[in-house]
Amino acid sequence: MTAEPTINLSPKGWDEVKTTTCYMCACRCGIRVHLKDGKVVYIDGNKDHPVNKGIICGKGASGIKQHYSPARLSKPLLRVGERGAGEFKEIEWDEALEIATHWLSQVRSTDPKKLAFFTGRDQSQGLTGWWASQFGTPNYAAHGGFCSVNMAAAGLYTYGGAFWEFGEPDWKHTKYFLLFGVAEDHGSNPIKAGLGKLKARGAKIVSINPVKTGYSAIADEWIGIAPGTDGLFVGALIHCLLAAQKIDGEYLSRYTNAPWLVIENKGGADDGLILRNGAGTALVWDASAGGTKVAGTFGTNPSLLGRFVLPDGRKVVTSFTLIAERFAGEDYSPEAVAEKCGVPAETTRRIAAELAHTAFNETVELDIPWTDYLGRRHDKTIGRPVSMHAMRGISAHSNGFHTCRTIHILQIMLGTIDVPGGSRYKPPFPKAIPPNVKPAGKLGQVKPNTPLPGPPLGFVSSPEDLLVDEQGVPLRIDKAYSWDAPLAAHGMMHMVINNAAKGDPYDVDVLFMYMANMSWNSAMNVPDTIKALTSKRPNGEYVIPKIIYSDAYASEMVHYADLILPDTTYLERWDCISMLDRPISEADGPADAIRHPVVEPDRDVRPFQTVLLDLGHRLGLPAMTKPDGTARYPGGYPDYIVNHERAPGLGPLAGFRGKDGKAAGRGPVNPDQLNAYVANGSYWFQELSDNMKYYRHVNWDYLDWATFFGFLPRPEPIIHQLYSETLQKFRLAAQGHGKVNVPEQHKARIETYFDPIPFWYAPFEGELVNGKEFPMHAITQRPMAMYHSWGSQNAWLRQIIGRNWLYMHRARAAKFSISDGDWVDVTSHHGAIKVQVKLVEGQNEDTVWTWNAIGKRKGSWALSPDSPESQKGFLLNHLISDLLPEKGGGYRYSNSDPVTGQAAWFDLKVRVTKSADQTEQSVPQFDTLKPLRGKKHA
Ligand code: SF4
Repeated sequence: MTAEPTINLSPKGWDEVKTTTCYMCACRCGIRVHLKDGKVVYIDGNKDHPVNKGIICGKGASGIKQHYSPARLSKPLLRVGERGAGEFKEIEWDEALEIATHWLSQVRSTDPKKLAFFTGRDQSQGLTGWWASQFGTPNYAAHGGFCSVNMAAAGLYTYGGAFWEFGEPDWKHTKYFLLFGVAEDHGSNPIKAGLGKLKARGAKIVSINPVKTGYSAIADEWIGIAPGTDGLFVGALIHCLLAAQKIDGEYLSRYTNAPWLVIENKGGADDGLILRNGAGTALVWDASAGGTKVAGTFGTNPSLLGRFVLPDGRKVVTSFTLIAERFAGEDYSPEAVAEKCGVPAETTRRIAAELAHTAFNETVELDIPWTDYLGRRHDKTIGRPVSMHAMRGISAHSNGFHTCRTIHILQIMLGTIDVPGGSRYKPPFPKAIPPNVKPAGKLGQVKPNTPLPGPPLGFVSSPEDLLVDEQGVPLRIDKAYSWDAPLAAHGMMHMVINNAAKGDPYDVDVLFMYMANMSWNSAMNVPDTIKALTSKRPNGEYVIPKIIYSDAYASEMVHYADLILPDTTYLERWDCISMLDRPISEADGPADAIRHPVVEPDRDVRPFQTVLLDLGHRLGLPAMTKPDGTARYPGGYPDYIVNHERAPGLGPLAGFRGKDGKAAGRGPVNPDQLNAYVANGSYWFQELSDNMKYYRHVNWDYLDWATFFGFLPRPEPIIHQLYSETLQKFRLAAQGHGKVNVPEQHKARIETYFDPIPFWYAPFEGELVNGKEFPMHAITQRPMAMYHSWGSQNAWLRQIIGRNWLYMHRARAAKFSISDGDWVDVTSHHGAIKVQVKLVEGQNEDTVWTWNAIGKRKGSWALSPDSPESQKGFLLNHLISDLLPEKGGGYRYSNSDPVTGQAAWFDLKVRVTKSADQTEQSVPQFDTLKPLRGKKHA
């Protein structure tokens, strides 16, 4: 008898599994990469990882197709034709690095600021910013200026933390969650998991967003607010809470500057400054003593409200009085804001009442004793279980900084920062307010062959910190930290190319970029950006003479560079998600992570970070070169990760330090550190003891611990700055006080927008264009399935979304006689596009929107010129001007937030009409990009 043949129903599809960190979005989940015969065959989530605990999303699983993308670059390229023509020759790495070194050394030895070094979604800013500083150029930033700096700056200037990577809701205890302007991309797996927990516990989720997709669709309540009016809505919530006297007076008195006294001396040089003693410490009014006392001292009974006269006759007021007066005003009543916000007054009142009820009647008490900064012992950790989260919908407006600060005022008034159930910090946050790192690049600090005395990005705290010359002219090419955008903590990458092309404020010689698709989806005003990249002087030289670009893929930007340094994919290189940059920390403790090469590159490509260190050595940058002239990090980026120390014992990775690998945070270099990370699933996490998990801004034990870890310079309390004296200093300068002169043209703007108390103003574009001509708001969202522009060339993800549509409310479309599937003309004050419309109901009626960065230029990303991404896909970017219209004086400000310089993508106003041209193709169509050498269109 012959045996029945058997079928193996579960053959093992892989022979090896390696853990690393995902790069398919910014969440940085732990992943397990399954390999068969050295090929990636499957990716799933690492269940032990603190960020995702095993969850994998569609993007993460599709990393295989990213890794094997036909658009991958394969060899260094040197341009041989005109920019944009796609004519390159392949060269060897040695030649490429020699060319780059030659170009860069010329700049460094003459005028280092003529190098503009900007990176995109770079997760190695701890390295890239340090490299720029070593080179000596102030002209460095990553993509934060067009992404989320309003969120980061508003938080860091208010409570020493921020939404997004710097904090998270207390998913375990929150009972009421407000989500502002969050699409599905920013905060993917962690937010999904968190929302799942809230749903399971029956907590209420309210999403405030003009568009009801993703998280908004599963919220218990969706508020389809008009874009750019969130600050007004939140102001109305504060108005209601003040009227009902539902504020956490104890939290405000103890942990915030609400009781600090503000000098009232209209027209005087000290008007609006905090009253301080001789030692510079803030003073409060002690009601029991009937006089001033030092803030934050034991036994003081500070008044929250009131105006007082000092013995010397000066008048003072508590900062909370000023805040209360602003938001108690009729301008912020629910009725006054209802029409602008599109939110009925009764809805605002109900939500305010729900917030108050949850915060004050449903407190969470944990049996965790802790000690505050005054040494007061608290037997329990008590919290008000309301938390909030906000992202692009708030930040991408010209009023985003103040809107985000208004949200923080609401959080703080309810006493919900870093308490059980509230919004929690993630180490290394909280930081001092603002963090005590100033941007380098002041007059006299940029010198040939000399590193900067500090990092190019930092936090200004007074006009003296700005990077401007004696006449107030910006010292940076993007005009960050100038009077245009004084608190531009992430730089203004969106302005670099167009400023450089105009020589405003000066010319650059080399533009060096990494992972930044600046000739397409990362540019406002795409046609003019392309013009800027290709324009020439009368002598035939390009206005931006040399462009070096590094990317793993043939994005639209590659065609406009002169020298291409091909990067690896994220599965082929070492990376370090570092405490020096934006680690993967959890609220319960610090965490960082690595990537390591789970497969070797099969092309002639090199990891950008290693190339950067190599260039640094070739240029003789002191920190990358030993005294004998040899490379300090001959082993490239992994060598740097292990051996670099920013301060004694503090390196890029906090885990497994010291000779035995047992030290955490601070400790000697451990040569075996990377192996220890790999063995631990490519991450390190240290859970804080319970007594250090909450109230960390004022938690004695935490502040001590954070100082040891190098997160804080001193174990001092971080008192929330509801009233921002920093902003007031700028306002005083605009009024003619202080040592720094504000140029006449900027005075009114600085005086208006540097208000120490947050306020709402209409987004700029809506105010500058005719509302009847351009009645609709136009915004973008990122879909759940994609994050980077590289997602829409991923073979699997393209099957989910292969082209985008303009989504329009059905009722509004009917008024315009527009039907589902019609092609429409969308016109802004700046340009026009033709796109296809889809009618839906779940969105604000005055808004149209689309998925961002799906549209591709024909021929890019190794896609067929006939691909739906280029034939029917589109960008709204063509409608967005990088500059605001002139308002007299001939000067045009960037289309940005006036405080932080954040790109105001979402201020866009348009009109939508049925197009006379119903052909099935989006407009504009640009020339087809020629396939790069060695590639053909798929
Ligand atoms: S959420 Fe982001 S980081 Fe996590 S698996 Fe998905 S794409 Fe990767």
